[in-house]
Amino acid sequence: MTKIKSWVWLRQIGFMLSGMLLVLWMYITPVAGQDAVKTLRVATEPTFPPFEMQSDKTGELEGFDIDLMNAVAKEVGYLVQFDSLPFDGIIPALQSGTIDAAISGITITAERARSIGFSSPYFKAGLAIAVREDNTTIKNFDDLKGKRIAVQIGTTGSKEAANIPGARIVTFDGAPSALQELVNGKVDAVVNDYPVTLYAIKTAGLRRIKIVGELVTEEYYGIAFPSNSPAIRDINFGLYKIVENGIYEGIFQKWFNNKPQQLPLIAPALVGAKADVSGITTGGGTRDTVFNLLLRRLPQGALVTLLLTAFSVFFGLIGGTLVAMGLISKNKILQWILRIYVEFFRGTPMLVQLFIIYFGLPGLFKEIGLQWSLERFPAAIIALSLNVAAYLAEIIRGGIQSIDPGQWEACQSLGMNSLETMKEVIFPQAFRRILPPLGNEFITLIKDTSLTAVIGFNELFRQGQLIVATTYQAFEVYIAVALVYLALTVLSSVMFKNIENFMDPIKRGKNKAKTA
Ligand code: GLN
Repeated sequence: MTKIKSWVWLRQIGFMLSGMLLVLWMYITPVAGQDAVKTLRVATEPTFPPFEMQSDKTGELEGFDIDLMNAVAKEVGYLVQFDSLPFDGIIPALQSGTIDAAISGITITAERARSIGFSSPYFKAGLAIAVREDNTTIKNFDDLKGKRIAVQIGTTGSKEAANIPGARIVTFDGAPSALQELVNGKVDAVVNDYPVTLYAIKTAGLRRIKIVGELVTEEYYGIAFPSNSPAIRDINFGLYKIVENGIYEGIFQKWFNNKPQQLPLIAPALVGAKADVSGITTGGGTRDTVFNLLLRRLPQGALVTLLLTAFSVFFGLIGGTLVAMGLISKNKILQWILRIYVEFFRGTPMLVQLFIIYFGLPGLFKEIGLQWSLERFPAAIIALSLNVAAYLAEIIRGGIQSIDPGQWEACQSLGMNSLETMKEVIFPQAFRRILPPLGNEFITLIKDTSLTAVIGFNELFRQGQLIVATTYQAFEVYIAVALVYLALTVLSSVMFKNIENFMDPIKRGKNKAKTA
């Protein structure tokens, strides 16, 4: 009987495995066969309207870049398969060849052209400064000295802002988050591509924001490729053709309601620069500078990570203990409220909780006329602690309830009150049981603090991203980041093991005997 049952199991596992292999195969084969049909895997970061965004109606990608890429590819007989990637991941992905091209409002710069190839320019843009409507002090680039500025990671805007003396730069994954930061009053300005900021104000209805001064830079967008990609020549030819036959003008008209600008054959940034548009490149930044950057920036990041972890565990432990008490109390209403709290924070992603607390709440308060905004550090600590407390509450509750109820009765008969019983008898025993899962929670939290990068925290992971954004050496940098995380988590494991041993009366007794 049991033999038959295990057969059925084996067969089911077999089915599942073959299903998984089939899915894997389906993913791999189009890539292997791509040369035959000339499919281009094109990456884009789809929060950059009107160049690339997700359509409200269909959920598909749309925008000027998307139409342009499709039109150009069609002209020269390529199939396009779009892939969404974060902006700072695009150049590393091109270098590693995981994608064949990228169109994402990417400015052609001499520095980038040393690691990737570019098509001819297809759009003339530039950086603009955005401030809140009531701001009268910032009128041009010079006024940005010493100000708080939000930018998108890895962009020309972030590079330009980095040169402003005394400015405090906060980096976000997307332009919309940077602009939201400005609306919420947490920064004084945003340096971002002019057409995108303008579109956010005019078309997407971003309120209380204006563009000041002249364009900070003149930039040209190009389609990006791995260096030496044979597709560059084809795509350039396609570009030339759609300009000639008027398709380009039609797309331009559709998205900008205007006549297209005159475009140069080569971006001015590359004229005379030591880079080759046809793809002959001189390689990325030198390893030495990457190494120095890692040595300088990762310890800073690790410190922020540790601070975030320590504060959140501290508050989480206090909160978790209180919630656990409430959960085992006799008050049914309190129990219900705390249950909802625990379920909410355990059942929703920490990332969503961070966004609600950091971006959502201040916006909501502004809408109802309250001038309240939460700084980055308290926002992160609140989000992390609320999350940790929810997990710890269950761990602590379990720990306390695992102690034999007979002990309560024994203490009562000895004349001890509940508080004394808890403090002297139950908690010390429960604490030993709580320690291992507490250690797990601590380690998980060290890793989870990396989520705060999305609200512009320069913790360990974001420091790595920032280094990749200027050096394009993703592998080395992320391995280094991973090793630092590993060092932190291993150290925490050792620390918790020591506390466990210390709390263990038997082991402590042995140690004492040894030293005696
Ligand atoms: N044009 C800017 C750059 O290339 C920003 C592009 C983007 O955010 N998609 O850096």
